[in-house]
Amino acid sequence: MSDNKKVVIIGSGLGGLACGTILAKNGYHVVVLEQGAQIGGCLQCFSRRGARFETGMHFVGSAAKGQTLDSLLNYLEVRKDITLSPLNPLAYDIVSLAGQNFCFANGREAYLEQMSQYFPKEKDNLNKYFTLVENVAGASSLHSLKTADSDEVLNMKYQMVSINEVIDEIFNDELLKNVVVGNLPLYAAEKDKTPFATHAFITDFYNQSAFRIVGGSDVVAVSLKNTIEKYGGMVLTNQKVEKIVCDENKASGVVSHQDTFFEADYVISDAHPEKTLEMIDSKLIRQSFRNRIQAIPQTVGGFSVYLHFNENAVPYMNSNFYSYNGTSPWNCEYYTSEEWPKGWLYMHFCNSDNPKYAVSGVILSYMQYSDLKPWFGTKSGHRGSDYEKFKTEKAEKLLSTVERQFPGLRQSLKHYYTSTPLTYYDYTSTKDGSMYGIAKDVSLGAACRVPHRTRIPNVFQTGQNINSHGILGVIVGSIVTCSEFLTAATIYQQIREANQ
Ligand SMILES: Cc1cc2nc3c(=O)[nH]c(=O)nc-3n(C[C@H](O)[C@H](O)[C@H](O)COP(=O)(O)OP(=O)(O)OC[C@H]3O[C@@H](n4cnc5c(N)ncnc54)[C@H](O)[C@@H]3O)c2cc1C
Repeated sequence: MSDNKKVVIIGSGLGGLACGTILAKNGYHVVVLEQGAQIGGCLQCFSRRGARFETGMHFVGSAAKGQTLDSLLNYLEVRKDITLSPLNPLAYDIVSLAGQNFCFANGREAYLEQMSQYFPKEKDNLNKYFTLVENVAGASSLHSLKTADSDEVLNMKYQMVSINEVIDEIFNDELLKNVVVGNLPLYAAEKDKTPFATHAFITDFYNQSAFRIVGGSDVVAVSLKNTIEKYGGMVLTNQKVEKIVCDENKASGVVSHQDTFFEADYVISDAHPEKTLEMIDSKLIRQSFRNRIQAIPQTVGGFSVYLHFNENAVPYMNSNFYSYNGTSPWNCEYYTSEEWPKGWLYMHFCNSDNPKYAVSGVILSYMQYSDLKPWFGTKSGHRGSDYEKFKTEKAEKLLSTVERQFPGLRQSLKHYYTSTPLTYYDYTSTKDGSMYGIAKDVSLGAACRVPHRTRIPNVFQTGQNINSHGILGVIVGSIVTCSEFLTAATIYQQIREANQ
């Protein structure tokens, strides 16, 4: 099958590590090359002055026993290494709009009961909406792992129609139309652009169950690395790949920034597709394809304020809290500097030592890459005092806004730290420091899709830009990429066996 063929994987984000794990388990000789000093990409966490912070993945869904993510994590041999802490099942997400808080409950019945209490006249429409969400999410065999009864036609239909178009048709109440999409920062949804299918996947994923990862999501990266190594592979840091070496037919390996050549029978890139193309100098890649990839829009970037609380000062909030200045969660990515921040998401990281109080948390708000123009080309830690001033002003403004709903927040802070889209660009090389990579747009259709295959027969892509972002989207994308090596049927069979 594999004949111990060599696979070099560029990037140790979730996509790279998940592909590495699947292939290493199946006898391939895997080498993962990571440009940074730390593995994980968006799974990276950092510690400062005794507090720990997540930079990317803050919570996961569908991870209760037997649910889709649980099955996939078992298959990847991660589940045994992580502890999950359930979010409040009656309010895993709280959306604050028009002066009222709306709680999202886990499970179809609880969700519908709660929403119907807020909007009694819309009870039937809520039922209709939720059935559609479940059907569309279940229609993708990859997301639901229900290979037999998947309905790809339904899935395709709702890939081509926008969220707001569908929701406008279902509901009458304007506030409810906004509430059901109140957690849209989870997928950086844009009005008239983001497909309803994306909304359905995320809504269904977190509705089934919602958890924080105790200790931080980097435990997922470490677990995957250990599994790759257990099966004879390697994960090397500080190895920025600069070139995928190709002859007129195929690739023979990659060259790192230290001029080291890594021979490969196959290459998989977890880097942003535009960056991957920059590494390839081959006539097999047409200029028109490069132009198309360069023209695809990216999801918006994020500005984060990482909060380190005083001891026993802030009770642990076992929910994600979303708030908006206006009455709508839409269009917060378009702002003037006076209007910013138009919306924000506030979360606490779970603290296993003392579950009653939070040690750390984060406030996240959209930020356009263009806001950082004066510092393009500079490196983290060397951007100068005007950059520090910019960040402090933004952080103070964001804190003041959040304090209106969480009075005393500033007083309970020991320290805070910040990151901008430039930070994400430095740490992951994602284009424009975008949060979730390439943006899906119903008006662009297939033009904003990136294939996992390339014109070079032994070079493949993986990661959030291939299928969709997030723990489920990226793992599913890794299965798609690895199907080229093993067939999808084999991988499904292995997932079933791992969960028996
Ligand atoms: C702020 C934020 C919050 C999020 N919250 C959640 C959440 O709560 N739940 C959830 O499920 N998902 C969440 N996500 C999304 C999720 O974290 C990502 O979709 C996922 O981790 C992306 O994995 P990836 O492998 O595609 O890419 P990345 O994590 O970007 O990994 C790419 C890797 O490739 C490396 N690389 C790039 N170029 C090279 C090169 N030339 N040579 C070597 N290495 C290279 C990078 O350094 C990086 O390590 C969040 C993301 C962000 C940014």
